Amino acid sequence: MSMNQINRIALISVTGDPAAEIGQEEAGGQNVYVRQVGLALTKAGWSVDMFTRRLSPDQSSIVQHAPNCRTIRLTAGPATFISRDEVFGYLPEFVKQLQAFQQKEGFQYSLIHSNYWLSSWVGMELKKHQPLIQVHTYHSLGAVKYSSVSERPAIASTRLATEKACLETVDRVVATSPQEKEHMRSLVSTQGLIDIIPCGTDIERLGATERPAARQQLNIPADAKIVLYVGRFDRRKGIETLVRAIAKSSLRGNSNLQLIIAGGYRLGASDGIECDRIRGIVKELGLEAITSFPGRLTESDLPMYYAAADVCVVPSHYEPFGLVAIEAMACRTPVVASDVGGLKFTVVPEVNGLLVPPQDETAFAKAIDRILSDPTLRDNLGQTARQRVETVLSWDSVASGLSCLYNKLLSQSAFVTEKSSQVAA
Ligand code: UDP
Repeated sequence: MSMNQINRIALISVTGDPAAEIGQEEAGGQNVYVRQVGLALTKAGWSVDMFTRRLSPDQSSIVQHAPNCRTIRLTAGPATFISRDEVFGYLPEFVKQLQAFQQKEGFQYSLIHSNYWLSSWVGMELKKHQPLIQVHTYHSLGAVKYSSVSERPAIASTRLATEKACLETVDRVVATSPQEKEHMRSLVSTQGLIDIIPCGTDIERLGATERPAARQQLNIPADAKIVLYVGRFDRRKGIETLVRAIAKSSLRGNSNLQLIIAGGYRLGASDGIECDRIRGIVKELGLEAITSFPGRLTESDLPMYYAAADVCVVPSHYEPFGLVAIEAMACRTPVVASDVGGLKFTVVPEVNGLLVPPQDETAFAKAIDRILSDPTLRDNLGQTARQRVETVLSWDSVASGLSCLYNKLLSQSAFVTEKSSQVAA
């Protein structure tokens, strides 16, 4: 036991299965981040095991994504979907399963990168029993989330305390934007070490198709004015604001205007309920004829939809990073987004997109109309958007930032061990 292979690391994502189908219920940006970071780190020479909680007895225990990159599903609590707010009580079992996995494999990870507060708890627990470097990405901060909701769930105080302990004690926290770092400092703690490494996107797959070809493939007329939303059905996403903005658009009487609201949903689940509510508003505002709901988009659908659109709208009330924005930008489609969170970092207003105050349907309508009525502005913003993504927001550049951080922390810890053993001698 305790044989350590220095380049073998674990990504922990208890609630965001990197091998899951993305784009519905709770599967969104975190799942994409973990899978893509895992794959890109593998290309950079790391051997990556990604741990998540099993959600059904039919799921395989191990999914091999690439020769040195796999998802490992541990059984912790019932093998069924449980909302994130209910998972905490099963974490001790998750830790035990992870320890048993290491025992079985005959080695221990030297470095883990945890994702979301539940996984940070797993990492901190594990660290009590083995020498370990822990890097953490929050994906969402309780302190920010709870400031915008009227009722806090029962788990709120545990989450806030865990997020604080994590920031103050783990080896390094990764903020995905300067805005997220600012929130950590002002709302969580002034202690602890934070590096900023953004999220990324697939710059080869996204951006390979031109607008006319994408429209042909999706049967969209060449002269249509397409406004696109992509994402989960969740109130925080502000889809209602977008629908109300379209109702106010000066192009509304124009028969070419089309609104596409893409994302998965299941009847009766929380996303199904939000989808029904949005459909109700669409109907009430008389927008049924110009609005479509294509459902969940797969990895191969996404580049087509983004490329076909004239503008992609991200109307979130709050967004820690917002992968959808950079996916659209990678496809040269400009973004109109809420002036919040990570969107303020990715979207540079008037340069590669437009930012407007969240929940301000009039401001969204104006910004959308500006782009729809001026193809030159659309193309210029889209071109600069693509450049920004290529230079700083590819998964490979993210993985290279993370690799540097991991190497630095690993070499520092080797130094500390060597030094302390010398002192002991
Ligand atoms: N997504 C998808 N299919 C859909 C809707 C969304 O694959 O039908 C993906 C989308 O491409 C993006 C992720 O889900 O990669 C959403 O991440 P984002 O950071 O925008 O939001 P989150 O879901 O984390 O709140």
